[in-house]
Amino acid sequence: MSGQAQRGIVFTEPEIFGRGSPGRAGYTPPEGGWPVADPAALIPAPALRGELTGFPELTESEVVRHYTRMSQWNFCVDTAMYPLGSCTMKYNPKINEAVARLPGLLRLHPLQPDEDCQGTLNIIHELGRWLLEITGFHAVTLQPAAGAGGELTGLLMIRAALEQRGSARRRVLLPDSSHGTNPASAALCGYETLTIKSGPDGKIDLAELDRRMDESVAALMVTNPNTLGLFESGIIEAARIVHERGGFVYCDGANLAAVVGKARFGDMGVDVAHLNLHKTFSAPHGGGGPGAGPVCVTRELEPFLPIPVVTRRGESYALDFDRPHSVGRVHGFHGNVGVLVKAAAYILSMGPAGLVEATEAAVINANYIRARLEGHYQVAYAGRSMHELVLTDHTQNEHGVTTLDIAKGLIDRGFHPPTIYFPLIAHGAIMIEPTETESLETIDAFCDAMIEIARVAKSDPASLKAAPQTSVRRRLDEAAAARKPDLRCPLCG
Ligand SMILES: *Cc1c(COP(=O)(O)O)cnc(C)c1O
Repeated sequence: MSGQAQRGIVFTEPEIFGRGSPGRAGYTPPEGGWPVADPAALIPAPALRGELTGFPELTESEVVRHYTRMSQWNFCVDTAMYPLGSCTMKYNPKINEAVARLPGLLRLHPLQPDEDCQGTLNIIHELGRWLLEITGFHAVTLQPAAGAGGELTGLLMIRAALEQRGSARRRVLLPDSSHGTNPASAALCGYETLTIKSGPDGKIDLAELDRRMDESVAALMVTNPNTLGLFESGIIEAARIVHERGGFVYCDGANLAAVVGKARFGDMGVDVAHLNLHKTFSAPHGGGGPGAGPVCVTRELEPFLPIPVVTRRGESYALDFDRPHSVGRVHGFHGNVGVLVKAAAYILSMGPAGLVEATEAAVINANYIRARLEGHYQVAYAGRSMHELVLTDHTQNEHGVTTLDIAKGLIDRGFHPPTIYFPLIAHGAIMIEPTETESLETIDAFCDAMIEIARVAKSDPASLKAAPQTSVRRRLDEAAAARKPDLRCPLCG
C-alpha cells in the first residue's frame, strides 16, 4: 500500500439525460412572480426550436451532485502527486490566483488606452526584466500563449534575421530526443527538419552536429536540460559549431526549472530561448492551458521582436509599435496576461533565494527517485539526472509487463502516471518529474508504489495487465478512442 488513501468512495456517474422525472425542477418561481414573455415574439422563427424532447428535469441537488462527482474524476496537482515528465506539474500557490484576480487587473479592458493600464504594463515590463536576468538575454516578448507559440515566434525571428542578411536558409537541425512541438514549429515556419542522432550518453553528438551543420541550416533547436533529463554539457561547443557556419541556436527552455538561478542560456551561446511560464513559474496548466511562452533573445535579434514592445519612458510605460523589422503580432493584445501576473506573483513571493532553493529541490527529488528505483527498473541513460529521470520497462518486459501496464498500475496505487513512451529514443520510456513541491513522504510513497509494481510484475504480471481496477473507468482502448471518437450529442442524436 502506497500510503495514499485512494480507496473508498468512487462514484460512477451516468449521463444526466434520461434521468429525473417530468415536472421536477431546481427552482420554482412564485406564482405570478415575474412577467412571462412569449419566446416566439422575441426569437426569429427560423431560430425557434419546436418541442424540446429528452431534456432532463432534475432538482438542484441532483444537478450539483452530477457535476461535482464528475469534477472529482479530474485528477489535478491539488489532488495528489502528478509526476508527468517534461510538464513540471508543480503545486501552484493560491496566492498567484488571488493576485491575478485583483479587480484592477482582472477587469481591465484589453482596448483601454496605455495611460489607463500602467499597472499591467508595469507588471509586464518588470516580469520581462526578471526573466532576462534569470536567462541572461537582452530582450524579451511575453506575447506567445504557450511553449509551442514561443518556438514559432523564435524561429520567425531567426528567419527574419537571416533574410535580412540575405541568406535565407531552409533547414532546422533537431536532436532525436526533441519534443514533438520542435519539428512541428520548424515545419510551420517553412523549414525542413533534419534529425541528428544523440550519442550513447543521450546528449547531442557533436561530431554528428559538425557533419550536418552547413550553410543550408538556419538553426539548431536544442532542449536543455534535454528531455532525458540530462544537461547538454556540450552546448557551448555546439553553439560554436552552429555560429561558425552562420546559424542560430534556439533553446527550448521548457525544462528551465532545472537551472533557474544556477545557469543561464544566454551565457551558453544560445541566441533565442522560449520559457514556459505555466511550467517553471507556476500557473495551473494541463487540460489545454492557458499558458505563456515568453521568448528571450540576444541584442542581435531584438529588432525582430513581435509588436508591440512594452517600453518604459521615464516613469510611465508605453507600447512601441514603431519597429520596422518586427515579425508582427503573435497574439492579440498583451498575450495571456493572467498567466503573466501569476508568474510575477510567484517570482516575487519566492525571491531570488527561494527560486534557487526550488531548483535544487527539484533536482534532488529527481535524483532521490533515481537512486531508489535504479535497482528495480532500467535507467535509460547513465549520468546524473537534472529535474527529471527516464526509466524503461526493459526489466519488466521479461515477464511480459510493459510501460503501459506500469502506468496503469500506478493509477491503482493513487498516482497519476508519469509521461510514457516519450522521449522516443528511450524504448518504453517512463519519464518522471517529481518537481520541488512534493514532500519526502509523498515521494517515498511514489517510490514504494513503483517498487511494489516491479515486484508484482514478476509475481503476478496478469494483475498489472488488468490494471486499473480502482478507477471509474477500466483500461481504455486508446487507439479506438482517438480514431473512432463517439461525439454524439444525447439531445441532437
Ligand atoms: C511542454 C513542452 C513544450 C511545449 O510547451 P507548450 O506550452 O505545451 O506548448 C515544448 N518542449 C518541451 C520540452 C516541453 O516540455
